[in-house]
Amino acid sequence: MQKPILYIVIPCYNEQEVLPVTSGMFLKKIQDLTAQGKIAEKSRVMFVNDGSKDKTWEIIQELARQDEHYVGVCLSRNRGHQNALLAGLMTAKDLADITISIDCDGQDDINAMDSMVDEYLAGCDVVYGVRSKRETDTWFKRTTAEGFYKVMNALGANTVYNHADYRLMSRRALEGLAQFQEVNLFLRGLVPLVGYRSTSVYYERAERIAGESHYPLKKMLNFAFDGITSLSVKPIRLITGLGFLISLASFLGILWVLLTKLFGVTVSGWASMACAIFFMGGVQLLCLGVIGEYIGKIYNETKARPRYIISETTFDHQKSEDN
Ligand code: UDP
Ligand code: MG
Repeated sequence: MQKPILYIVIPCYNEQEVLPVTSGMFLKKIQDLTAQGKIAEKSRVMFVNDGSKDKTWEIIQELARQDEHYVGVCLSRNRGHQNALLAGLMTAKDLADITISIDCDGQDDINAMDSMVDEYLAGCDVVYGVRSKRETDTWFKRTTAEGFYKVMNALGANTVYNHADYRLMSRRALEGLAQFQEVNLFLRGLVPLVGYRSTSVYYERAERIAGESHYPLKKMLNFAFDGITSLSVKPIRLITGLGFLISLASFLGILWVLLTKLFGVTVSGWASMACAIFFMGGVQLLCLGVIGEYIGKIYNETKARPRYIISETTFDHQKSEDN
């Protein structure tokens, strides 16, 4: 059997402090795996510059000049982690037999790649990197993340628990992923839908090497909400259920009003009336908001705008394909 070509795909946004430290670690991993005879010589470390405002792209270009194992893809502007990752994966799909996606901040244990490649060689198409411990994340981040997975799964957007975007995918799994043309991209929910044999490997998550997380609370909440609404229509069903319950309660309320009227009990009732109006107003606005969210998603999907635009690469596509 021919040895597989591995591409490590790494989205980078304003990572000038981190890249000089972690780039060497990725390269060493490729060299080790090659030396062990598990992967082919032509394996590469691929950085995707997601429209960084600092020197990230210059650093990537310099790395590519120094060592042919580094390649870089530059997006025309910042498109966010998920789109940047997709751009890298779709570019690597034509060049590699397997890809491993990972963040560039050194938080995910690079050594888990050994077992990922082993699992691929044993016949798996998708290998999820799963965090077994998150002690280095803050208590707040850990609890919100846990809540996030629970809510996601309860609402019908199935994801692998404690798996972010550190995963191995075979070429045919990537070809499957390429058929999902959606603009509202939530990769960790889509990959399980691609199917094929999959497994998980476990690792411990470390601290960011330098720089700051790009996912503060507000962005994380947006991400969670997007994840749910782009993968599941359960919230709309819940609204229907809620509507049904409230109608039932109103019906009982009407009965009660009629009975009190019949038996001549006069009630001033303004307090309960006002509460009911406020409550109903709130519930209705909330429901409209959720429905609006879905309509917004449909609007974006129908426009089918490109998910990313590649402005330049450090390698010549044609030449790499001949390799
Ligand atoms: N990232 C990106 N585009 C963005 C934001 C982040 O490509 O708009 C990259 C970032 O450089 C990193 C990865 O996505 O490699 C994950 O980001 P971060 O480490 O900030 O997230 P966290 O680990 O805190 O969830
Ligand atoms: Mg990180």
